[in-house]
Amino acid sequence: MKVAVYSSKSYDREFLCAANSSAAHELRFLDVRLSPETATLATGAEAVCAFVNDDLGEPVLQELAKRGVKLVALRCAGFNNVDLEAACNLGIRVARVPAYSPYAVAEHTATLILALNRKIHRAYNRVREGNFALDGLLGFDLQGKTVGIVGTGKIGQAFTRIMAGFGCSLLANDLRPDPACEALGATYVSREELFRRSDIVSLHCPLTPETHYMIRSETLPCLKRGVMLINTSRGAVVETRAVIRGLKDGTIGSLGLDVYEEEGDLFYENLSDRFIPDDIFARLLTFPNVLVTGHQAFFTREALTNIAETTIANISAFVACGCANHEVSIEKIAGQGR
Ligand code: NAD
Repeated sequence: MKVAVYSSKSYDREFLCAANSSAAHELRFLDVRLSPETATLATGAEAVCAFVNDDLGEPVLQELAKRGVKLVALRCAGFNNVDLEAACNLGIRVARVPAYSPYAVAEHTATLILALNRKIHRAYNRVREGNFALDGLLGFDLQGKTVGIVGTGKIGQAFTRIMAGFGCSLLANDLRPDPACEALGATYVSREELFRRSDIVSLHCPLTPETHYMIRSETLPCLKRGVMLINTSRGAVVETRAVIRGLKDGTIGSLGLDVYEEEGDLFYENLSDRFIPDDIFARLLTFPNVLVTGHQAFFTREALTNIAETTIANISAFVACGCANHEVSIEKIAGQGR
């Protein structure tokens, strides 16, 4: 099958080509993001392969359908960037990689917590400049602290297991409580109670209308003062302007982000010779108690292998029987909390 692979980087090429060696689909790698302006580049392809910041809204899907595209193969788990209703109406199937390595994201979440707490980002720079003073680097023991986990699906559960290992008290919130997380010591409580009691709040739910701006001006006062807030889910679960105010008045003690609501224009590009065009993001970077990574939580060798293999298998299944292995549709997600 002819596949236009949008937003592809050198590592995507490496892992997809390896996974495609026996399937032999015709992969056309494109550096650009999928958008209304770049959709025409899919001409001649029957499938497009897309990533987290590609635009799969109705206008783009219409353009793709016009050019004969029948399948969108996402190389990610989240599908908040796809207008599923429009895809259905246009006869375009949408497939994703539902699980590739929950450990990669859960371990990165723990990395953000440890680095923020012990100020590793600051200590690293200080030591390299010969400054061995400890002022400003004071952290706290994780042992005994209360960690609130919003969303205990695959990643939330892997994260619960890690934090249980640190001896934390675990509070969880999900539409569907998971006995496996309870067995790890997590207690399911309402979101309000989780916010009120947690020293660390970590977000692992999908972006849905219900979770959009879960952390915003009105919910900030519900958080324990000085909370460490971690978001590795999707950027728009957090209202950035509100958390900046929270950082300034001390409501939020520290902030770890792997995702950002307007990341599409920033992440995965090297802007080091230019300037950061987003003033709100630039403001975030001025806080010493904020640590941001550019949507890299998934980025392990194991995860990229699984992503590539599942994506190629999705495309091959579609060729074989007109239906990919891991399709998402409005019917399938109805009642699943997304
Ligand atoms: P999952 O579907 O296994 O789990 C999501 C959980 O969130 C489910 O248990 C669901 O019931 C719960 N949920 C849904 N709506 C909720 C709500 N309103 N309140 C509380 N819980 C709710 O998904 P996953 O594989 O664990 O991934 C979680 C999220 O992590 C993804 O949706 C994606 O946005 C994000 N993610 C980020 C990266 C990264 O690199 N930063 C990589 C993969 C996934």
